[in-house]
Amino acid sequence: MSAQRTFDIAVIGAGVFGAWTAWHLAKRGQSVVLIEAYGPGHSRASSGDETRIIRMGYGADELYTRWSQRSLAKWKEFFAETKQALFLETGVLWLAGEDDLRLGQTKATLKRCSVPFEELNRDALAKRYPQIGFEGVKAGLFEPHSGVLLARRAVAAVVEDAMRLGVDYRTAQVLEPKGTGRVEQIATSSGERIAAGQFVFACGPWLGKVFPGILGSRVFPSRQEVFFFGIPGGDTRFAPPSFPTWLIQGDEVYGMPDIESRGLKIAFDHHGEIVDPDTQSRMVSPEMAVMVRKYVARRFPALRDAPIVETRVCQYENTSNGDFLIDRHPEKENVWFAGGGSGHGFKHGPAVGEYVTGQLLDGAAAEQRFSLSTKETVQKRAVY
Ligand SMILES: Cc1cc2nc3c(=O)[nH]c(=O)nc-3n(C[C@H](O)[C@H](O)[C@H](O)COP(=O)(O)OP(=O)(O)OC[C@H]3O[C@@H](n4cnc5c(N)ncnc54)[C@H](O)[C@@H]3O)c2cc1C
Repeated sequence: MSAQRTFDIAVIGAGVFGAWTAWHLAKRGQSVVLIEAYGPGHSRASSGDETRIIRMGYGADELYTRWSQRSLAKWKEFFAETKQALFLETGVLWLAGEDDLRLGQTKATLKRCSVPFEELNRDALAKRYPQIGFEGVKAGLFEPHSGVLLARRAVAAVVEDAMRLGVDYRTAQVLEPKGTGRVEQIATSSGERIAAGQFVFACGPWLGKVFPGILGSRVFPSRQEVFFFGIPGGDTRFAPPSFPTWLIQGDEVYGMPDIESRGLKIAFDHHGEIVDPDTQSRMVSPEMAVMVRKYVARRFPALRDAPIVETRVCQYENTSNGDFLIDRHPEKENVWFAGGGSGHGFKHGPAVGEYVTGQLLDGAAAEQRFSLSTKETVQKRAVY
């Protein structure tokens, strides 16, 4: 009987964080096994939707602005190398009401980070975007080079390229590693054992289920409903380049133009109820459908009677304040967590993978904000 193979690193979870982590590790010559319960970017994963926004604006939060810049460059390089058009430069439009403190902070941060943007006052907005109802909006900021990632396909593409680089991809559900100190191998629900030098659990909203003791009360998977409104036949006003990706700060609502003819995408950003990502219903609620329809009628009057043509129900994987969780397990020296994307993590996949790789291979300096010790058991959202 042949001896069991020991990988340098096992990555558990092939969402955007795990996929990019495996990719970067393989690029650095590590032998990597990537283990996923359902499939890369599957329909229950946080990375499993059609589209995700990549924007540079993060208020005063320079860390995430810089990570977005770095990640966008990496996404574009990756898509160019693999000859895939999975980034759409739709531009991203921020709109603010009377309280535009955050817009001012975003402006200052973008300037400091040399991100190009355009300021638009109310008149300029109304002239450029007659499709939008600007009631209560005072000012706007436009990031011309930001846009949308075709999310689930992008994750699948990263996994495919990681496999080309030698990553061993397997379908299995991994159980919580037992004991303290050094972990030699992990077990799957079907009884398989996989040995590695280090283990990275990139399980997104499942982290609390895999590590109930440590993370059960520190990762908050919240139900988020997404709607697509059908555009009237022959109407191109809601498609790029006429219409951008947009976020309306005071309303906590965001959306995207008509991409791949799926309709206008729109969602409320406030956190829904805490859910189980395996079992929560993927049907939208009638109450939310009514709320969203009312909102669409106010902001996009031409779509007042538009049909809802598609819906999605996903979950954010929130930490207490929205900062990522990328840290070593407190009792298992070679086990790591990489998660806590908190509803804004997708765009950062390339930078997360690079950061985790630096932690594992180079002992690079750790960012305190990502540490387990900063993760509370009560939610106080601070990152948007
Ligand atoms: C509605 C919605 C809108 C969003 N919008 C944006 C946006 O516009 N821009 C943005 O940047 N971000 C956005 N996000 C956030 C972003 O999608 C997430 O932060 C990101 O996708 C998280 O990726 P992940 O790899 O950590 O988790 P996931 O994608 O959930 O991946 C985790 C994977 O781990 C696997 N797994 C779990 N447990 C096990 C196990 N025991 N064994 C094996 N495999 C396991 C799961 O099957 C899953 O595939 C949004 C999220 C939602 C829900």
